[in-house]
Amino acid sequence: MGDPVMRGPFPHSRRKPMATRAILLAGGVLAGAVALAHDPAADPAKTEAWTPVPAVVATPVGAAPSDAVVLFDGSGLAAWESEQGGDAPWKVADGAVTVVPGSKGIRTRQGFCDIQLHIEWRSPVQTRGVDGQNRGNSGVFLQERYELQVLDSHDNPTYPNGQAASIYKQAIPLVNASRPPGEWQTYDVVWKAPRFSEGGGLLAPARITVLHNGVLVQDDTVIAGTTEYRGPPSYAPHGCAPIYLQDHDSEISFRNIWVREL
Ligand code: MG
Repeated sequence: MGDPVMRGPFPHSRRKPMATRAILLAGGVLAGAVALAHDPAADPAKTEAWTPVPAVVATPVGAAPSDAVVLFDGSGLAAWESEQGGDAPWKVADGAVTVVPGSKGIRTRQGFCDIQLHIEWRSPVQTRGVDGQNRGNSGVFLQERYELQVLDSHDNPTYPNGQAASIYKQAIPLVNASRPPGEWQTYDVVWKAPRFSEGGGLLAPARITVLHNGVLVQDDTVIAGTTEYRGPPSYAPHGCAPIYLQDHDSEISFRNIWVREL
């Protein structure tokens, strides 16, 4: 038989007094701190990056960031032209530009490659019984070829890869974040242009991230090629190109359009 004190689950007789343990613990912590202080790799300054210093960008509420290219602020369509050439024929009023059905699309005079894009749009309140693809259809085409769909998708079923915030006939949005017609909606887009080799081969497809009314709906989506009404998508080499807004016979309005070149 051994010492009866040792039979219990906790051999208290062998434990050091509380005060002794506290002193040992404090000593260990102190020793560790001293060791760290003398270890060059543990110097916090070693992991501080002081360059490059980010440029300062002013971000006024409700307006474009100070480093943005403003494409439409309500004052006119100087940054745009008709897809047929000449001045953009859409109607400007009350800080917005509205599609004139039948007048064809408009595009920016400037071409873009990688961009951050902000654009606001509003579907008309319907006065006649149109639905599906005929209700509030327009589109934001990146580089004139790749359509981020604009559609009144509030309580308006259609094929999901053709609803609002889809990449037309390629990518269904993660959720339907649509507001009712008559309310302003936002798209915030990060667009990475496709890369082509000197010989015209595809080096890297385009990619797109989209927030619809602040909600993530396209998450670094790979673009399979041009967004076609009929047939599969495909790529043909091209350079930087305009942003194009579609006339699809709906009186869609746009406002506060700006891009930041990346
Ligand atoms: Mg469309």
